Amino acid sequence: MPHHTRPLLLLDVDGPLSPYTAEPDGRPEGYRPYEVMPAFWRARHRGRPDGEVPPLRLWLDPSHGPALRALPFDLVWCTAWRGEADAWIGPLLGLPPLPSVDWPRMHQGDPDGLHWKTRHLTAWAAGRPFAWVDDEVEPQDTAWIAAHHPAPAMTLWVDHRFGLRAADFAALTAWAGSLTA
Ligand SMILES: [Mg+2]
Repeated sequence: MPHHTRPLLLLDVDGPLSPYTAEPDGRPEGYRPYEVMPAFWRARHRGRPDGEVPPLRLWLDPSHGPALRALPFDLVWCTAWRGEADAWIGPLLGLPPLPSVDWPRMHQGDPDGLHWKTRHLTAWAAGRPFAWVDDEVEPQDTAWIAAHHPAPAMTLWVDHRFGLRAADFAALTAWAGSLTA
């Protein structure tokens, strides 16, 4: 596929890459523990001296970076980490700097019960085909996107106990293939 026609892959961090509800004693296969200190995490501990802020601990699977880069998509961070994913997540997975959806606000309520990301990421995609990978996407989000986005779109729910799995990569590949079939 020529580069400019590739669909976007709008990628969440907490859930798909970081299985934050995995059992503490049951780290999923392939994951390794990491400690990071993004600015939003330091801000949550405002008032504590820098040296006393505990690191944010998370598990990541380093094989996800190469697997994501091999997909026929243009990768985009679509996460409450905003551009900080470039500094703290991308390098651990071997991902290059990526564009990120920058939110005017986050975690707000929605009159139609949509996820706080749904309307903004759809506008951000500006008519390009996209797949949105998130542990919080729900059927009403999928329906809204189908009704309001002028290009093909796929939503892929990922279980935050496990993170992205082989079947998810297969589904993304199959969907991208269906665009050019
Ligand atoms: Mg998430």
